[in-house]
Amino acid sequence: MVLGAAARVAIVGCRRLVSSSHAPLLVSSQSRQMSTDARSVSEKLRNSGLLRTQGLIGGKWIDSYDKTTIKVNNPATGEIVADVACMGVKETNDAIASSYEAFQSWSRLTAGERSKVLRRWFDLLVAHKEELGQLITLEQGKPLKEAIGEVAYGASFIEYYAEEAKRVYGDIIPPNSSDRRLLVLKQPIGVVGAITPWNFPLAMITRKVGPALASGCTVVVKPSELTPLTALAAAELALQAGVPPGALNVVMGNAPEIGDALLSSPQVRKITFTGSTAVGKKLMAAAAPTVKKVSLELGGNAPSIIFDDANLDVAVKGTLAAKFRNSGQTCVCANRVLVQDGIYDKFAEAFSEAVQKLEVGDGFKEGTTQGPLINDAAIQKVESFVQDAVSKGAKVLLGGKKHSLGMTFYEPTVIRDVTSNMIMSKEEIFGPVAPLIRFKTEEDAIRIANDTIAGLAAYIFTNSVQRSWRVSEALEYGLVGVNEGIISTEVAPFGGVKQSGLGREGSKYGMDEYHEIKYICMGDMNRQ
Ligand code: NAP
Repeated sequence: MVLGAAARVAIVGCRRLVSSSHAPLLVSSQSRQMSTDARSVSEKLRNSGLLRTQGLIGGKWIDSYDKTTIKVNNPATGEIVADVACMGVKETNDAIASSYEAFQSWSRLTAGERSKVLRRWFDLLVAHKEELGQLITLEQGKPLKEAIGEVAYGASFIEYYAEEAKRVYGDIIPPNSSDRRLLVLKQPIGVVGAITPWNFPLAMITRKVGPALASGCTVVVKPSELTPLTALAAAELALQAGVPPGALNVVMGNAPEIGDALLSSPQVRKITFTGSTAVGKKLMAAAAPTVKKVSLELGGNAPSIIFDDANLDVAVKGTLAAKFRNSGQTCVCANRVLVQDGIYDKFAEAFSEAVQKLEVGDGFKEGTTQGPLINDAAIQKVESFVQDAVSKGAKVLLGGKKHSLGMTFYEPTVIRDVTSNMIMSKEEIFGPVAPLIRFKTEEDAIRIANDTIAGLAAYIFTNSVQRSWRVSEALEYGLVGVNEGIISTEVAPFGGVKQSGLGREGSKYGMDEYHEIKYICMGDMNRQ
């Protein structure tokens, strides 16, 4: 097929069509076979109306204006699941305009009215948790059980903020003069641009859209081009719940174009981003000319610190969960496992035994606990980190190579004798590789843990209450798990320090990100 000039330009913009890591033609014909499960799931989803492929602008489902599309692949098989609209600057500008218009009425509803709509959305998300979970597994690859868990987690933010909408209080301040009254109002900030990653296709959206809509803001969401289907299905359910046209828009496709349109628009008053630190920094700089409020949830380099006095079982289970969830592709994944001298060998053995039991496979297969990595680039990154560590003296205890299943499956891996000069100690691995680093004293552990530009999550395993407090307070991290490997919940604030980000999501603190504070000084009108 010969493409017109406009289409060619747009296709170059939509990286997915030219990305070698995804191009279906580069996938072997054997690996392109979609599993029977995946095929029947995608047919069922199509029939249910939840497999949406157009963008949502002003309450209408629309194609990209130049009719170009992006291919969404199943990372477990390489097969194309759907072609979705590949949008850019024009569609984004229209989405912003519709969001701005919707803001005028949505922000004037009572909190109770907004709350009811959000509650209905929550109920629909829960009612469709199986289909949404299937969509997540299809486009992102995580095991179905874990995907359905993400739906429950993602939906919990909508429920929480449906409730929290009614608790946005202002203040009355004791005045500095008897003929004045001083008031503080919290008002919705306006149109919000929300840019989200592929590793939690639903939850990273609901953590932003929940508090934004609850506050009275309206939103333009840009999901990752790798996982737009879950976002579109969630938006369909939002429409069914009564979220009015324009209050929630979804555009996907050419990320830099969409990002530029959101960042340069004076009508967009806030950018909320979850993704890599590199892109976050770019967005932060680009938000400066229009002085937008910015929230950033960026990359991590989490230490999981196992002290000699830890309960071995608890430390193994907690670190396993923190490391291998989503095949190691979460921002809070344990990236470095710091183990004290006295327990190092015992831990290495027990941990390797536990890792060996993980089941790698297609997320639709019963019993799978480890799905594929998202793409070839992710595999290459993991391979190069492992090579670097081994070349500098680290020893592979388990795994250490691509899985025999092929595609983007990687063996769950444990590496010992990792040191701070190896790349995997410094950068996010984002894959199923657990590096074990030895330390001697508590001071050493704190120094090694804090020796990074990241500051998102950290975990410590100890039976000493005093040490729990001391180390938790000394860690330069936004989140600390003590004898716990999975700590994120809608009722607690989630976010990083240092170069892991700005702002918090979840809890009452997450609501503040979507408000402006207005001070009103009321003088006495009868004053002479
Ligand atoms: P990414 O490459 O930074 O992409 C994140 C989002 O930004 C995607 O929607 C992407 O679009 C978009 N994007 C990329 N370049 C852009 C640009 N120039 N302008 C505007 N948007 C742009 O990150 P990722 O690989 O998807 O996600 C993995 C990263 O996210 C990891 O570092 C992880 O730690 C971090 N993360 C952090 C948290 C947290 O809460 N702190 C949670 C989850 C993930 P396309 O995908 O369409 O290109």
